[in-house]
Amino acid sequence: MKRKILNILLYFSILLFLVFVNKSTVFAQGEPEKIYTVKDLLKIADNPSGDYILMNDLDLKDVEWTPVDFTGNFDGNNHAILNLKIRSTSESTRTTYDGNYKTYDTYFAGLFGVLEDASVKNLTLMGVDVNVQKEEPCFIGSIAGFAERSNIENCKIDGTLRLDVKCKMFGVGGIVGYGGDGAITETSAIVTLICIDHDRENRDEQFMGGAYSAGYLDVDKCSIKIDGYDSDHGYVHDGGLVGMYILYPLGNNYAGYINNTRVEGMITFFEDNTDRRAYCKDFIGEVMNWTYEYVGNSSDFTRNEIKDYSKDLLPHYCEGNDYSKEVIEGSCDDFGFTVYTCNECSEYKVKADYTLKNHEISNWETVVEPTFEEEGLAKGICDRCQSEVYDILPVKEEEIEEESEVIEEVLPLEEENALEQGEAKTEEKDEKALGTLLVTGLVISLGLVVAIATVLIRGRRKKR
Ligand SMILES: [Zn+2]
Ligand SMILES: [Zn+2]
Repeated sequence: MKRKILNILLYFSILLFLVFVNKSTVFAQGEPEKIYTVKDLLKIADNPSGDYILMNDLDLKDVEWTPVDFTGNFDGNNHAILNLKIRSTSESTRTTYDGNYKTYDTYFAGLFGVLEDASVKNLTLMGVDVNVQKEEPCFIGSIAGFAERSNIENCKIDGTLRLDVKCKMFGVGGIVGYGGDGAITETSAIVTLICIDHDRENRDEQFMGGAYSAGYLDVDKCSIKIDGYDSDHGYVHDGGLVGMYILYPLGNNYAGYINNTRVEGMITFFEDNTDRRAYCKDFIGEVMNWTYEYVGNSSDFTRNEIKDYSKDLLPHYCEGNDYSKEVIEGSCDDFGFTVYTCNECSEYKVKADYTLKNHEISNWETVVEPTFEEEGLAKGICDRCQSEVYDILPVKEEEIEEESEVIEEVLPLEEENALEQGEAKTEEKDEKALGTLLVTGLVISLGLVVAIATVLIRGRRKKR
């Protein structure tokens, strides 16, 4: 009798388990939200835990981006975001640790301010322009200022990141500012990093790294080209790859890896400090905890220490702001950009103002009709390379003569809307049905457990 009851209970548990698994699969299968326009990209801030996929190259030249604290998944889909311009940090703070495990409430800036339990993959950032001034602890990076339990994979970064500070704890990373317990894989960064400490009083903790400035993120199959400038009146931790490798919090025994990675470039720095350490190396400036695997790495790196502390270090010192421009047009394969050459020294050149690829599209197909209130969306296929490109259709203007035409054009959109609403309702229904099934299952199982318990207790009583 007992065995029979146990069997029933077992079968029932299995059934219940299957329902649960099925339910979670339904959730996981949700399609990522498609990003076609700059407006769509800006909407991530409204749902920072969502899954997204980029459908188009986007130019942010007219936007000052506010870093988003993100816990979702972002698939760049091998598309690019051009001219990402950042002047502020995100809202959240997180704890960062210096080499003495002293903690700081810290602000962050990057495409994402704080990345947690998140992923960013297949994304190109061209012409990154981060320039943050802060009087509180702060770390900046291109993809993220802070990253924990997050993975960055197959990304490409090109740009300049500059941090000007008056505080005790800060850093600049080419990909991530500060972070741990995650990985950066198959990602390349060509970055100019500038970090200037503006208060001589604080003997601060300063960090710079071509991949990340401090923490214990794993790195595999990455390529870093760094041109770093670091002026500090405190403790410098500079690395072509990582400024300081530290497992935090204290007592962490994570086993990490830094493998198959190439570092090229130079860090020019000064450490204005009587108690000098001046950590600056090709891969890791200071190693706090050697608990990682390290194979297949190579470097061509110059440690350029400057002993004159009177002048903050910069890629270029001419003050005239007199540049000649050369515009390079984009093609099907490459983005366009402008080369600025300093007329004063004719030596300093910088690439900026990236432009979208130049495809040839003779036919545009309307994907979303514009209305009188909202922009529409058009899709084009390049005649030469067959790339799929999306562009905005401007808001409709009222024209009385073309009334009949307008009605005709609006109709399909309404139909589409009705269809979408229908789909949404079906999904809702499915979810509700599953929910009901779950609740029913739970009630039945509870009833069964009570029944079994009663039977067992009675059995025992009888035995007595
Ligand atoms: Zn010059
Ligand atoms: Zn093309």
